[in-house]
Amino acid sequence: MGQALPKAAFSDGQSVPALGLGTWHMGERGGEKAGEVRALQAGIASGMTLIDTAEMYANGGAEEVTGEAIKGRRDEVFLVSKVLPSNASRHGTIAACEASLKRLGTDHIDLYLLHWPGRHPLGGTVEAFEELRAAGKIKRWGVSNFDTLAMRQLSALPHGDNCAANQVLYNLSTRGIEFDLMPWMADKAMPLMAYSPLDEGRLLRHPGLGRMAKRLGLPPAQLALAFLLHRDNVIAIPKSSSPERVAENRAAADISLTADQLAELDKIFPPPRAREPLQMI
Ligand code: NDP
Repeated sequence: MGQALPKAAFSDGQSVPALGLGTWHMGERGGEKAGEVRALQAGIASGMTLIDTAEMYANGGAEEVTGEAIKGRRDEVFLVSKVLPSNASRHGTIAACEASLKRLGTDHIDLYLLHWPGRHPLGGTVEAFEELRAAGKIKRWGVSNFDTLAMRQLSALPHGDNCAANQVLYNLSTRGIEFDLMPWMADKAMPLMAYSPLDEGRLLRHPGLGRMAKRLGLPPAQLALAFLLHRDNVIAIPKSSSPERVAENRAAADISLTADQLAELDKIFPPPRAREPLQMI
């Protein structure tokens, strides 16, 4: 299985693997469901026990695939799902969560996120999250696609400080958050979930990354993920519907990048020198 996965920790003490499994685009085609379930199960068996899904993905289809994959092993898995901003009113959030629980075939979600900032007042969403938490339907809640200003505004709301995580676009070619958001979150000991860690596959065709990976004898995906695993309290959630590629991603945890190698990556993918607007997909 390789080396143990590095861990990330929530401020309530819950620890999770820093490498999990994404599910966007799963559940879109019925004929591929069995393969997707197998890929997720291969990941779980190898220690990638955090699964990221959302009501948005395939209109609930990805949650159904996830539900299938965790049948009989719910307790091994840390489940993350998300409410759509258009559903995130006080009452809508609760209804959306209950529908997600049904599709996932479980009685609780470990981390429930607002998918991105939307038109419903955030205070109502937070109240709904707190109600769901008190009822045991979610263990903790967080947000996604929030920039530093939005995080500050959230933390000023009643119970806003209970936000457990922020999930944002973060990979070698999108490093803007390193300038301000990442330090802000680190200061609060809040884990950062890195979505699209392979830039939806585009990074794997980057010539500079390809050359460096080839020289090191590594698949480019492993080098891209090893960079993220090197960061403190970052949880990367690559998606793959192939058990072989899941295994390849898992093996990124066996790579320990040297200071020289990290400096080389900084040359190919320069870190930000000033504040940048938050990018999102
Ligand atoms: P990723 O960066 O994870 O890239 C996924 C793509 O890379 C797929 O096409 C996959 O193909 C391919 N791939 C994966 N591993 C390998 C490998 N080892 N070698 C070659 N190709 C590989 O993109 P995602 O956008 O899916 O991001 C990951 C997850 O983050 C999502 O699935 C979702 O859960 C979450 N997300 C959250 C967002 C938000 O707004 N909160 C927005 C976007 C994503 P294949 O499946 O065929 O292997």
